Amino acid sequence: MSKPKILIIGGGYGGMMSAVRLGKELGTNDAEITLVNKHNYHYQTTWLHENAAGTLHHDRTRIMIDDALNLNRVNFVQDTVVEIKKDEKRVILENGELTYDYLIIALGSDPETFGIPGLKEHAYSIRSINSVREIREHIDYCFARYNNEGQKQDLINIIVGGAGFTGIEFVGELADRVPELCKEYDIPREKVRVINIEAAPNVLPGFDEELVEYAINNLERRGIEFLVNTPIKECNEDGVILASGEEIKAATVVWTGGVRGNHLVEEAGFETMRGRVKVEKDLRMPGYDYIFVVGDCALIINEEINRPYPPTAQIAIQQAYTLGRNMKTLIKGGGQLEEFTFHNKGTVASLGKGEAIGVVGNKKLFGTSASAMKKVIDNRYLFLLGGVPMVLKKGKLKLF
Ligand SMILES: Cc1cc2nc3c(=O)[nH]c(=O)nc-3n(C[C@H](O)[C@H](O)[C@H](O)COP(=O)(O)OP(=O)(O)OC[C@H]3O[C@@H](n4cnc5c(N)ncnc54)[C@H](O)[C@@H]3O)c2cc1C
Repeated sequence: MSKPKILIIGGGYGGMMSAVRLGKELGTNDAEITLVNKHNYHYQTTWLHENAAGTLHHDRTRIMIDDALNLNRVNFVQDTVVEIKKDEKRVILENGELTYDYLIIALGSDPETFGIPGLKEHAYSIRSINSVREIREHIDYCFARYNNEGQKQDLINIIVGGAGFTGIEFVGELADRVPELCKEYDIPREKVRVINIEAAPNVLPGFDEELVEYAINNLERRGIEFLVNTPIKECNEDGVILASGEEIKAATVVWTGGVRGNHLVEEAGFETMRGRVKVEKDLRMPGYDYIFVVGDCALIINEEINRPYPPTAQIAIQQAYTLGRNMKTLIKGGGQLEEFTFHNKGTVASLGKGEAIGVVGNKKLFGTSASAMKKVIDNRYLFLLGGVPMVLKKGKLKLF
């Protein structure tokens, strides 16, 4: 009898950890495991804001797939998925197609622009190595042009739309990077504006108020401006227009206002909410017992507050563990599939070098202790992915 084919699409946190866990849960003769990813590398999406600001080189963030996975256990196909054929058990790639018995959808997210005109066309987003490399280069180039082009203010105005986690982490990095750029291009620091614009009444909506206050004070002290309660009505090639009608000119607009599930999921005809599938408790697609969804494409309700859990790397990693065990049960037999339960290990947002805020257990963390905790979390992921050698190769080893 031929081995069942398990196909994982997407090599981010959810996809890579699924491949690792399946490799551990199943023997070589139990199943054929294939991972498809756009690139021959995996990247830590949670570090991309540092690459975008230019405070960390993107090579630190990416990990070659053959360094992380045992390719004797997992076949790797570098290609782009263009269509999921859910009823025919096929996936169409740019350069061919693959069939499967079991599919794991781990394609991550797309930016959510809430229909705001011009954002898609004129704003950058922090979403891949390619996108952040372009943001870093663009900001550098704008600073380089400033003294050559009549010191046009919009060249050194940077607008960050959205003050959720990604927005705050990005402006934290910019607060470190801008003084370096000013030095390099002979621009007085006080001339540069970094403006974080948020439609909600507060930055980091839903986060602990004391920590939010710490973050705002810290970032304002380091030159970041906040405009809250300020919806962006439109983005154009000159900058943004606010709901009030005021225009803010900026050569750089970076949109961090939210994400939705990868468009391929919706396009495949699955029922979604903002592109995310409300999965069954065992992580399967409703109505499709041979398809699992993990990571940003999966929507799971936090029953304590009756709202979806936010899409995070933390939940994607935990889902991969449940998925691994459930796939083993399906393939080797053994009764009921396990229900996924999210164990919140805490949340830490970095504010730049040596600065962060977070809640771990019942404890609030500020400043250097929060920053060290953030590095511990990052290193833990590397350990789960590739053990001690991966931590030594890619980890953030200086905690303070
Ligand atoms: C700047 C930033 C900071 C963050 N900080 C945190 C944090 O501190 N803690 C936390 O828990 N979460 C954080 N998050 C959220 C976290 O990164 C995501 O929730 C997590 O990456 C989701 O994992 P995933 O596997 O679903 O998707 P991803 O990790 O985004 O991976 C998706 C993969 O699919 C591939 N792919 C996409 N489309 C195709 C296609 N058509 N064909 C083939 N391959 C494809 C991509 O190349 C990518 O490798 C942060 C996110 C950002 C942007």
